[in-house]
Amino acid sequence: MSQHHNSTRADRIAKKKLKDECKAADLPCWLSGCTIDYDTAWNDLDNPRRFQRDHFFRTSTHLDLYNDPSNWRPSFADCNDARGNSTAVGGLGIPSRQWRPSE
Ligand SMILES: [Zn+2]
Repeated sequence: MSQHHNSTRADRIAKKKLKDECKAADLPCWLSGCTIDYDTAWNDLDNPRRFQRDHFFRTSTHLDLYNDPSNWRPSFADCNDARGNSTAVGGLGIPSRQWRPSE
């Protein structure tokens, strides 16, 4: 699912900047509206609410937008994983709650 993710130094810095900005603004997960645990490391796999950078337009279909900050959204890992490789369709509206993982 994440085989296309590069990890250049610039990208890591950009990701950290996004996380810091989202944390400062206390932004919720854009998929579910739930609170993100910004203080958890990205690689703390035991915490499903760790911050992950999501892409509004999936990288699989819009690789050109991978590094475009306007395409970035804050999410937490469980929601991002649940969304998988689905493509956001229908313009730029607020996504419905259909992405919420079943519990
Ligand atoms: Zn969420």
